[in-house]
Amino acid sequence: MYFSELNLCSEILLALDEKGYETPTKIQAEAIPKILSGCDILGGSQTGTGKTAAFTLPILEQLKNRKSESKKPLVLILTPTRELAAQVHESIITYGKNLCISSSVAFGGVNIKPQVRALKQGSTILVATPGRLLDLAGQGVLNLSQIETLVLDEADRMLDMGFIHDIRKVMKLIPPKRQTLFFSATYSIAIKKLADNLLTNPHKIEVTRKNTAAETVKQSMYNVPKSRKRDLLAHLIIKGDWNQVLVFTKTKHAANRLAKFLCSQNISAEPIHGNKSQSARTRALNNFKSYKTRVLVATDIAARGIDIDQLPHVVNYELPQVAEDYIHRIGRTGRAGSSGEAISLIDKAEKSMLKSIERLMKRSIYVNRFDDFSLEPKEHNRPSENKDRERSPRQRDGQNRRRNDNKNRRKNFKKDQPSSKETKEGNNGQNNQKRATHSRSSKGHSGNPSKGKKQLRSSSSQQRTEKRNFNKHRPSNK
Ligand code: AMP
Repeated sequence: MYFSELNLCSEILLALDEKGYETPTKIQAEAIPKILSGCDILGGSQTGTGKTAAFTLPILEQLKNRKSESKKPLVLILTPTRELAAQVHESIITYGKNLCISSSVAFGGVNIKPQVRALKQGSTILVATPGRLLDLAGQGVLNLSQIETLVLDEADRMLDMGFIHDIRKVMKLIPPKRQTLFFSATYSIAIKKLADNLLTNPHKIEVTRKNTAAETVKQSMYNVPKSRKRDLLAHLIIKGDWNQVLVFTKTKHAANRLAKFLCSQNISAEPIHGNKSQSARTRALNNFKSYKTRVLVATDIAARGIDIDQLPHVVNYELPQVAEDYIHRIGRTGRAGSSGEAISLIDKAEKSMLKSIERLMKRSIYVNRFDDFSLEPKEHNRPSENKDRERSPRQRDGQNRRRNDNKNRRKNFKKDQPSSKETKEGNNGQNNQKRATHSRSSKGHSGNPSKGKKQLRSSSSQQRTEKRNFNKHRPSNK
């Protein structure tokens, strides 16, 4: 089939041609005619199957001859994340570049004023995340009473992120008589319930088997102790000469730590997660897309909207907490028919999650064998480094020396400890005792109890001086 057989206008066909699309993907071939005929759609489609074009192309086609009588939006596209909202909006601009249809995007984490300005000027299509949308509606700058088409993109993720209440609020602001296009990569009972509420006699499209990962993604795993994961990752990247790798961690802190470690191994890496400002997230994503950064270390939510043509490698550094997220993660590669590789690094504690994932996909994941990588702990993988702490040898020497000094001080102090009567000074007795610990021990004081009180009073200033002296006289490592 060709796009020209789908009743799309020449302006859209030209844009598709310029984008290099030759034939519609399966979901596009099925959804576009149905949407053009006015049907509601329930789309079970993985990311990377071309579903964005499947709903944006017919929407643009429907709007192409509409004269905008008011500045209110006619189409609302809801997405769970900022990245996905930006991505969908980009697609609208790309596919609609030869048409005169206004559109704007609204999401949180950035200044609201430009979004307010864009809405005041008038936007026929609005792409938004639920929170910012309600903010704008609450401020009275957005009126959704003219909405004719509602799209819920990645509805499963919206529920996972707790947007159900926001979605219900949005529903109250838009007309009940409308066309609704509902897309979800996975189907839970909650998703079915939401779809039943929102859709009227929908046309169901199931592009791939339920809860399966894109067939084009080659999936495999390594059994590896937690403490060796980061070295294995660095090894795989260097050995395989991977130049664009999306790595998933469970937490924001783990993402930060891993990116830092990879940089220390001369592998350029940046973290992307919800604690980063929107501009930092956009910058990290752009650096990654333009090959300035080799590795993007992401948490699940931040990675949701990442769409990179032919992203070759996805690594699950840690398995997700929810099995369905595995499918979303690996769906970042192998998009629109291109091939991709998803590798998971699995430690003992993750075995049960691995089983859940395999059960969900109804297939097992191939286990790779180690060729030239040893699982023996490396020099820098001492037990204390299980927490991924990174210290230079110089820092470690300093730390060991300080530890020994403190041990000696404690020993001396115990020897010199005056009786409890002498150290208890009213209510402050305990605090003073603590301060006295430093002043006495660092001076190697003999512990004469009669000197105790005077010393206690001046202890904090002494402590400061001693710290200065200690640092001054510390032997240099150079
Ligand atoms: P999506 O599933 O909408 O996130 O799309 C995944 C990727 O497929 C995007 O990078 C699109 O640019 C690309 N794509 C969508 N439709 C086609 C098509 N018909 N031919 C080639 N690539 C496409």
